[in-house]
Amino acid sequence: ARPENFSADERLITLAHEEAHHLCAVLRLREGAEVFVFDGCGREFRCIVSAIEKRSGIALLKIEEEVLPTRPESPLRLALALALLKGEKFDLVVQKATELGVTRITPLLTRFSDIKMADPRDAARRVARWRRLAIEAAKQSGRARVPEVADPTGFAEFIENERRAADEGELARRLPIIFAERAGRDLREIRSRHDPKPQIITAVVGPEGGWSEEEIRQASQKGWEIVTLGGRTLRAETAAIVAVALLQHLYGD
Ligand code: SAM
Repeated sequence: ARPENFSADERLITLAHEEAHHLCAVLRLREGAEVFVFDGCGREFRCIVSAIEKRSGIALLKIEEEVLPTRPESPLRLALALALLKGEKFDLVVQKATELGVTRITPLLTRFSDIKMADPRDAARRVARWRRLAIEAAKQSGRARVPEVADPTGFAEFIENERRAADEGELARRLPIIFAERAGRDLREIRSRHDPKPQIITAVVGPEGGWSEEEIRQASQKGWEIVTLGGRTLRAETAAIVAVALLQHLYGD
């Protein structure tokens, strides 16, 4: 259930539209049935279905108790920033990265990305779609926390925001990585250079057209690690999914 579905006193949850439909028509649950509900922000509740109002498409759930999340989040805070991609490739990455436990996904506007998202209505529509996909993928994979999908951000602004977050944020070990083919260290070297393990990783993957020299220079000047995934050039969506899976394997769970 989305956070806005929780009532003020947190004893009742109202499910509407597709969530109510899922409960009644797909799971075929009726009044009195027990369900476990995630609020999308990391909390989980044991609830009883108290009413189903078919005509208005609403289901009311009574919260019995808060329970410890059955499947806790990875100890690694892994954020992915991916250049905007053509067609449905970005959709695919949102789904897979959510399944793989990322905490934030940022669509990046880079020098050589073909998609520019100049029309704000188009941008808002696509971002709303990615947020819906993240919710679906979190539910499907049993995550109690839905990753944040940020608004599209320019590359230079993103690098600057990350620097500010590192300066102002809590004292956690951070590792910012920009993935680039034909350059940089591999993840084995990164692992030996960053010991003890980082707790917060930001992984950035470029567009079909690759990075400009200026973007690589900007990132490395700000202390980002340039990392290769091997000698083959991967499609951007493959690189993003592989990068997230490897980092989760090395540093999270
Ligand atoms: N033609 C582009 C070039 O030569 O720069 C290829 C860009 S590649 C399709 C898209 C993005 O995927 C790259 O910017 C990089 O972030 C990532 N990528 C692809 N293969 C990679 C590799 N072997 N190692 C690290 N990153 C890779």
